[in-house]
Amino acid sequence: MSKPLSVPIGPIRVNSDLYQLVLFRAQRCACGASLKRREETVLTRNHTTIRRVKAVCAQCRSPFVLEFDITGCTSEPRDRARFLETITRFLDGISAYKRGELEVAGQHLVGALANEPNFTVGHFYLGKVRLAEGRTDSAIRAFRHAVKMQPMELSYQEALYRAYVTAGEDDQALAALATVEDVRLRVDQGGFQPRDDESGS
Ligand SMILES: [Zn+2]
Repeated sequence: MSKPLSVPIGPIRVNSDLYQLVLFRAQRCACGASLKRREETVLTRNHTTIRRVKAVCAQCRSPFVLEFDITGCTSEPRDRARFLETITRFLDGISAYKRGELEVAGQHLVGALANEPNFTVGHFYLGKVRLAEGRTDSAIRAFRHAVKMQPMELSYQEALYRAYVTAGEDDQALAALATVEDVRLRVDQGGFQPRDDESGS
């Protein structure tokens, strides 16, 4: 087994409570199962407002502490509206990508990421767009960001691997392939995926 995989510890910048929830729910323990939220506290560190979330794996009970940088959050309705705008720009970006309009797709996705800089699936699709444009270095950067935010997401790990192959970075590709196989094994084993992380808080 290669290096142990886990969730990002943070602080991860989120600009809305809604996106914090989305990102939390996307996290998986190294055993492949989802996390149950136990407790949230807010603290200030170096002029940064941090929400610390204590969680536990729903399957193997491993404890996790995730930190979200919520300095950019303002008020709930405003943050929610901005996040919905992020989703709209993201969907516009995907539509443009599917039409082959790569430049427009890139603009929408960059716009979405300006709103929510750790919007993981936005980085994933931006990587696809950059790869299609032949901008391999930029694609690798985008996939690396996605992988950092959701290390247990197999499709992101596979995309990073393929980008390294395209770039001819053989050593990186080999290391990425080992991670792909590791994640695949863990995800297969973690078939138990309860979605009741709200209940335990
Ligand atoms: Zn676990």
